[in-house]
Amino acid sequence: MSQATWFDGVKAMVGKQYGRVNSWDPVNSPMARQWCEMMGIDNPSYYDSSYAENSAHGHLTVPPAMLQVWCMEGLHINNYAPGSTKENPYEVLKIIESHGYPAVVAVNSELDFDRYLSVGESIYYTTRLADIGDEKTTALGTGFFVTLIMTYFSEKPSGDEKVGELLFRVFKFKPANAAAPKKADDQPSGIPKIMRPAPGVSDDTKFFWEGAKEGKLLIQRCKSCGTLRHPPGPSCPSCHSFEWDTLTSKGLGEIYSFVVMHYPEVPPFDYPNPIALIQLDEGTRIVGGLVDVDPKNIKIGTRVEVVFKVVETDQGDITLPLFKPVI
Ligand code: ZN
Repeated sequence: MSQATWFDGVKAMVGKQYGRVNSWDPVNSPMARQWCEMMGIDNPSYYDSSYAENSAHGHLTVPPAMLQVWCMEGLHINNYAPGSTKENPYEVLKIIESHGYPAVVAVNSELDFDRYLSVGESIYYTTRLADIGDEKTTALGTGFFVTLIMTYFSEKPSGDEKVGELLFRVFKFKPANAAAPKKADDQPSGIPKIMRPAPGVSDDTKFFWEGAKEGKLLIQRCKSCGTLRHPPGPSCPSCHSFEWDTLTSKGLGEIYSFVVMHYPEVPPFDYPNPIALIQLDEGTRIVGGLVDVDPKNIKIGTRVEVVFKVVETDQGDITLPLFKPVI
């Protein structure tokens, strides 16, 4: 099928409406309070009922920026509230992908609020495929800008009321820096290989990557007060000195915290993808990928040691410090 033919089919989808996605819970104060705690928002209008009663609203409200939160699926993929549509508003991305555009990046997210929501309201949204641009080439690569608009409503006996809108735009593309396939049969679908992005290396961080290349985990140390710091930076957060040298860590520590990335699966990383915050024995912390672990059995406090692995990136090979459990 020629590009013109398949793209005409995709273009014809613009304007398509997808059914409603319901909220698991009505708008409620406990979720708002926890959200404020996570986001570092200290506004008593959202959690202190006696303060809120004397405010312009006269009662507790919830942060408008939480609009998207109410209808989220939760921790499990596609675990939408009962009565939600089974349609996939992102189906067009799969179609574009099948024509050789494997990468995706979110480029815009614009949230509009019509009014504050009140505790007890039931919220849902519907989605409209608002636009698919013609093929464009950007610094990232060549592809299509796809715009979806989610319109949020509050259920009302007298007719549901629009309360806000979320515009979400992604760029679905063939990466410009994709390496050529090593063998013809590596890429049966003709989709270019996506490379791991190289870390940004600056004058402040160069020593770290050069150390890793030599199999050393180097940690920046203030020459004036001895405080260790990571990630590297130009001055000491304790005494503000610009003088520093490095300490070679033994590479031993314990898992202070971790996440296991499941979704979305972004190539070329393997999934599930466990990433940990390691408390090094020398006293500072560092983020690193975990290897040689079962992602289901990772525990805070597990002793780990550094291992160095050479990985291919879009700007050549680099050596990454990773961590594995000490057996
Ligand atoms: Zn210092």
